[in-house]
Amino acid sequence: MTISRVGALTAALAIALLSLPAQPQNIPYSADWCRKLPRPQYARLERVADPDPWFQVYRVAPGVFALYEGHQAEEVISYLIVGRKQALLFDTGMGIEPIRPLIERLTRLPVVVVNSHSHYDHVGGNHEFSDVRSLDLAYTRQHEKGYEHAMVAEEVQPENLCGAWPLGFVPAKYSIQPWKATHELHDGTRIALSGRTLEVIAVPGHTPDSIALLDRAHRQLFVGDTFYPGPIWLFVPETDWRAYRRSVDRLAGMARSLRQVFPAHNVPVASPAELLRLQEAGAQVDSGNLKPVILPGGRREYRFHGFSLLLR
Ligand SMILES: [Zn+2]
Repeated sequence: MTISRVGALTAALAIALLSLPAQPQNIPYSADWCRKLPRPQYARLERVADPDPWFQVYRVAPGVFALYEGHQAEEVISYLIVGRKQALLFDTGMGIEPIRPLIERLTRLPVVVVNSHSHYDHVGGNHEFSDVRSLDLAYTRQHEKGYEHAMVAEEVQPENLCGAWPLGFVPAKYSIQPWKATHELHDGTRIALSGRTLEVIAVPGHTPDSIALLDRAHRQLFVGDTFYPGPIWLFVPETDWRAYRRSVDRLAGMARSLRQVFPAHNVPVASPAELLRLQEAGAQVDSGNLKPVILPGGRREYRFHGFSLLLR
């Protein structure tokens, strides 16, 4: 292409842009992460039709729905697990769009809310529910007060949006509302939904209050942020690397008895073998065999197969 043609093209583009109506508030942003969506793995999943465009719902196993917030850069995934008499909502998402109306379209059963941990991107809809169960830790109790706008404002900047905000959502007023934990959980607590029992596995590391949920009969493990296919955040002050490695060892020990692993970001279904790779990656970080890429700002990214460990 010659320079003059580029010039002509630019001029034509400028005229075209000038003739466009004023941009609405919700502009599809061309950030890198957004341009790469949808992730190819989603094409193989069973989509469940729902009128709310904010959540994309997938049936990832009988009675298990992944609720994916793919219009926001966290690409957070909450899970609705449906038994015969009760349902369990594992995480309540970003709090950008109310999640309870969606849950009520998917099930009429009473809903128990359990969080994988109390980081803001997993507890946004907690306040919409009356039955919220968590570990009784000072760390969690602090978060029950919610997160004010300044703490989460970054998440609703234009570069973190892909598509449109929900109708009526005001980014400048975004915050995580306080909630109240109504029941206490411990490592080993079993929550029976009738036809399905979930067992709490404490996996401190990413945060002190991180838990996984194990369904032994269905051979499923819901892992929260302990594993997901992407850069796993292990650099925040509340992350304890030694504890994380112990927790990963514990989960990796279950890998051979599992059929499905459900992470809380990016893609809802992972192979249990990922837990063994995660264990291996952690061991290689500590042995010095895996060399980090130093990111701007000094964080160390240890890249492994299909994921990375992002450390301080
Ligand atoms: Zn987290």
